[in-house]
Amino acid sequence: MPWPVSPGFLAPLAPWFDRVRRDLPWRAADLDAPHPDPYAVLVSELMLQQTQVATVVPYFGRWMARFPTPATLAEADEDSVHKLWEGLGYYRRARFLKAAAASVAAEGWPGDLEGLATLPGLGPYTAAAVGAIAFQWPAPALDGNAFRVLARLLEIEGEPKAQAAELRAWLAPALETHGPSRLTQALMELGATVCAPRPACGACPLADRCGARRSGRTGEIPPVAKRAKPRASILWLLALEAEGHFLLHAPSAEGLLAGLWRWPTFEASAFPPQPAAGESSLTAWPGWTQVYTHRREAVSPLHLRAKNCFAPGPGLRWIAAADLSALALGKRDQRLRDLLTASGQTPLEAPEVAALIRACAAPSA
Ligand code: SF4
Repeated sequence: MPWPVSPGFLAPLAPWFDRVRRDLPWRAADLDAPHPDPYAVLVSELMLQQTQVATVVPYFGRWMARFPTPATLAEADEDSVHKLWEGLGYYRRARFLKAAAASVAAEGWPGDLEGLATLPGLGPYTAAAVGAIAFQWPAPALDGNAFRVLARLLEIEGEPKAQAAELRAWLAPALETHGPSRLTQALMELGATVCAPRPACGACPLADRCGARRSGRTGEIPPVAKRAKPRASILWLLALEAEGHFLLHAPSAEGLLAGLWRWPTFEASAFPPQPAAGESSLTAWPGWTQVYTHRREAVSPLHLRAKNCFAPGPGLRWIAAADLSALALGKRDQRLRDLLTASGQTPLEAPEVAALIRACAAPSA
């Protein structure tokens, strides 16, 4: 069946959004005009990639207070950028945002969608979202939420992303008619709050025209993608302390954890548990499971106090304990830093201390 014409079909969405829209710090009051601060839209869209609105709100506030313009972000040092992003995950986004801000500070905002898409970190979805929300360009922004909503409304069989080009062409006239910023955000809001994976169709402004609801197939459309089973590992996470210093891996320039300091980690199988040696003291806490997209880590946090600092192994550095709180760490490593300052450490069975120290030391000549 051909799809109905989009401006009429989606008409109830715009007034519904005007009624229910959440008051978010990056949202403009006037949705008919270009956004007064396109940089705020850029920051929010990058923060919202893979991250819930409720998590982003406080980060956004801190970020805009510290880096209120593209120029202030462009001039900031990478350590302070990573520190402010700490806990939000997917740290590449912070570096992309800084690079995009540098481009905007030097050359101004691009004048069209193709130009926006060349900014670092802006794929087709983010470029379209920024184009629509910041500049009122009728650029259809389709993310996972929007694909799910449109697939159900239009009763699309199979993976809706396979029809991305057709869906963009279908949506564009509705953006022109109802306003690019308003309709883009309305579709996002509907996907986030009503047409969620488990939809609340009773609260939906489009329920009377939704194909999947009519045919009772909201649970089947769109089909749920099968995920590969995450790889499991068991790790010791080690805070090694000596003479008022801690040993950490310095940040690497590239990769998923670029810009972040890390505690040394060891596969648990390499160090069978044994009592601690007399010269040093070792504390272990109950562990936790850290879940990433493709892997699952059972983490056992340890605090090992050695007598003296020693020449560290490649990539490791001694950091004064007083400077620990200023370092940018990923979520897992932050948790161990928090444990170090918490009271009530309970000694448990421990791995072999000398072997742990040897593993962190520079190879002997
Ligand atoms: S009626 Fe239900 S399934 Fe259809 S768009 Fe609305 S919330 Fe989604």
